[in-house]
Amino acid sequence: MNFERIKEKLNILADAAKYDVSCSSSGSKRANKDKGLGDSSGMGICHTYTEDGRCVSLLKILLTNHCIFDCAYCVTRKSNDIKRAAFKVQEVVDLTINFYRRNYIEGLFLSSGIFKNADYTMERLVAVAKKLRLEENFNGYIHLKSIPGASDELMREAGLYADRLSVNIEIPSVKGLKLLAPDKNRADFIKPMEKVKNEIIQYKAEKKIIKNTPIYAPAGQSTQMIIGATNETDAEIMYTSASFYKNFNLKRVYYSGYVPISYDSRLPSIGTEVPMMRENRLYQTDWLLRFYGFDIRELLNKDTPNLDMDIDPKLSWALRNLNLFPIDINKADKHMLARIPGLGMKSVNKIINARRFRKLNWEHLKAIGAAVNRAKYFMTCDSRVFETRDLTAAQIKGLILSNSSSKYRKTLNNQLNLFDTVKPLSV
Ligand code: SF4
Repeated sequence: MNFERIKEKLNILADAAKYDVSCSSSGSKRANKDKGLGDSSGMGICHTYTEDGRCVSLLKILLTNHCIFDCAYCVTRKSNDIKRAAFKVQEVVDLTINFYRRNYIEGLFLSSGIFKNADYTMERLVAVAKKLRLEENFNGYIHLKSIPGASDELMREAGLYADRLSVNIEIPSVKGLKLLAPDKNRADFIKPMEKVKNEIIQYKAEKKIIKNTPIYAPAGQSTQMIIGATNETDAEIMYTSASFYKNFNLKRVYYSGYVPISYDSRLPSIGTEVPMMRENRLYQTDWLLRFYGFDIRELLNKDTPNLDMDIDPKLSWALRNLNLFPIDINKADKHMLARIPGLGMKSVNKIINARRFRKLNWEHLKAIGAAVNRAKYFMTCDSRVFETRDLTAAQIKGLILSNSSSKYRKTLNNQLNLFDTVKPLSV
């Protein structure tokens, strides 16, 4: 093995992979078997951060950064004058095993540019996972990117060896995709998602009858959208997300603020700020949809096509719907409690438990850990009359902003890291 050349390839192909943020390993239950290497069931992949705050899971690489396509938003596009490299299948296998043995990584995140065609590339990605599982008895986490347009047979095989599969939708709208990647077709993204969803359902059904049926893609599938390369509204982005969650049982949609990388009149110019706060607000909205019982139409609609950047989406919704407040936390159901700004789902559950034994007052709420400073404008409890209930939405917003930490201010921290964007809301 030529170590210098491998090192060079690693530099090129790990750097090219950093733009893909969909590297969470949550949800897999693959246990160590036959005294093999690794175990993704406990805590999944280790994460680290690149300088620009993006989440990087080791080993996170491209198989190659050669590509036959020329997507304007992608650093790997064929017209970009960059150093190119490609790993052989065995090289990726060896690197994974060696890094794993040295405790550098707990899994592999493998994506690729497209050389020759979708199947030719997908075949190699699958070969890496297959070798790791069957020849190296590797039980660590494997996340494979699915190549749009790959055949059903390869997609089926991929899910037998990988924990998670993902197809990046890249641009949220069909018109945006046409503008920046005219050679690509939205249908080519949808087909593998549909296939993966169906295989997961089918394998689960078969497992109920035949116990030793393998679990297909145990950590499910995810996708990623680039935000800010095209001019979609937040509503367009989140309606796309909501439909993907619903139609393809996605585990996660990742939102990646566009990093200007090329001089192209179709794209934001180089030097334009990466929309990190917008990315954060989209993650918060996503969280409200998945865990707080909100419907997308409540948060974004014709009247509200974009999210507020200075306040989080739950507070923004509450201020637009002040007629529903204040909510009596000793009587309200879980659905309404979850809508009070300042209460996360943990606090909501604690309130429901605690109020079985006593009527709750402000002191109880503080002890529970609720953010009373924000919640107090939207709730009543077993205490004196809600003293500020005649405030207007603008007044409440002003008071909250003036009393809150930099999290709510416009002076945003460019170093905001990805983990801030995926934490549960405690708003
Ligand atoms: S097909 Fe993928 S790797 Fe190739 S240019 Fe487009 S986005 Fe980049």
